[in-house]
Amino acid sequence: MADLLTRMESIYGRVYPRLPVALQNAALGTIGWHNDLTVRGRGFTRLLGEYEARTFADPGAVRELRDARLRAFLLHAYETVPYYHELFDQAGLHPREISTLEDLASLPITSKADVQERRSEFLSSAVPRRRWKLVSTSGSTGSGLIVATTLEAVQEQWATWWRCWRWHGIDRKTWVAILGTTHVVPARQQAPPFWRYDIAGRQIVFSCAHTSPENLKYYLSELRRRKPLRLHGYPSMISLIASYLIETKTDLGYDVRWITTSAENLLPQQTRLIEKAFGVRPKQHYGMVEAIANISECEKGKLHVDEELAAVEFVPITNTLYRVVGTNLSNPVMPLVRYECNDQVTIEPGELCSCGRPGRVVTDIDGRKEDYVVLMNGVLLGSLDRIFVNLPNVREAQIRQDAVGEIQFLVRRGVLYTKEDEIQLRAEIERTIYDGSQISIEYVDEIERTARGKLRFVVSSVPAEDVVGYKVLPPPSLSALGNGDNDL
Ligand SMILES: [Zn+2]
Repeated sequence: MADLLTRMESIYGRVYPRLPVALQNAALGTIGWHNDLTVRGRGFTRLLGEYEARTFADPGAVRELRDARLRAFLLHAYETVPYYHELFDQAGLHPREISTLEDLASLPITSKADVQERRSEFLSSAVPRRRWKLVSTSGSTGSGLIVATTLEAVQEQWATWWRCWRWHGIDRKTWVAILGTTHVVPARQQAPPFWRYDIAGRQIVFSCAHTSPENLKYYLSELRRRKPLRLHGYPSMISLIASYLIETKTDLGYDVRWITTSAENLLPQQTRLIEKAFGVRPKQHYGMVEAIANISECEKGKLHVDEELAAVEFVPITNTLYRVVGTNLSNPVMPLVRYECNDQVTIEPGELCSCGRPGRVVTDIDGRKEDYVVLMNGVLLGSLDRIFVNLPNVREAQIRQDAVGEIQFLVRRGVLYTKEDEIQLRAEIERTIYDGSQISIEYVDEIERTARGKLRFVVSSVPAEDVVGYKVLPPPSLSALGNGDNDL
């Protein structure tokens, strides 16, 4: 999805919002078609076949495959990537001294700030520029990162995702409602349709920036008209529709067969809400454009590490809480070795799964929890990290809201931040938060952490009763979301 948006923003930029709806559908269809080619290409079919053949492979064999990839990858990084050449030399190590995942601990961790500040030193001299594919991310802390990768690496990620979806019986021909895209419908559009069609990709792409209480009925009528069997998107948006159905004591009017989520952590209360409203338990997978980790849900509801895609380490914080640190074995253009993505997972001691898949089991993913601000028309606007997707010079950001109509951005600037970045930041904010709320940007040297050292992306003290027209179901209450319900 991030890739879809990046592509849309880079190709169509400011033109897309001014097009008539029919042309926007055509434009989206073109992007969908392009994405479909990525997924449909020969490379993808081969990779998916290889990944599926390993679904029930022996754990030892999959570990060996990962470690063999790791050994070759570290050598590649040392020989062709200036940052890692220096890092190995400074550590007094040669990549040949590292032969397994466990051996990696002798190397220092790479942070996102390291990559942001020394971006060019992370690029391998061995991959020609014409093979690069650029993807961008905002991450959970609102600081953007542009990752250079290859088509094959992107296809490999898609192979892990499709392997997971196919475990659950989802077919690539199934029509899907995408619930979790901000810019697909121009922000200022007041009347339906708040969705666009991507015929080639068999997607109805709904805007998550128009989900006011008055508008949700249009979303539902479109779902009832087209009856897509699969809903996919942000848990925050799917649970918003779920709570609307429950509050209005209605149902969807047809049976959805699959609900899959991505991009945000699926909270337990969201799972309950979604299951109650749609009668289907959502399936989640965890991944990111940096491709340093990927985790997929099996049919037993357990979360398995896709071991062969990345060398994933869980660095302990407590005896059940771990930092996710990973090495992106699939990306030869911009190797990231022991990269920390700022997400955390819980692993209960002895957590196992009886399904027979080889990947390690994670109990819970505690990354990228979704937060909202409240617009003056009652819309709960989430996924605000979109604002920072193309702003790699923002080091950290936090959005604070103490009253409806006032939203404050705290921004910690990176060393390369300029006036141009501020102009772009203001434009992105205006494009996303469109209701006339008073916006302020404050530059700070430090953003306060929670007691557990986590950076909250949105801090809201707006009381739930001030949310006009919306009674946010408890749980999750707005204040709980704003303050981090699962904060650790
Ligand atoms: Zn399992």
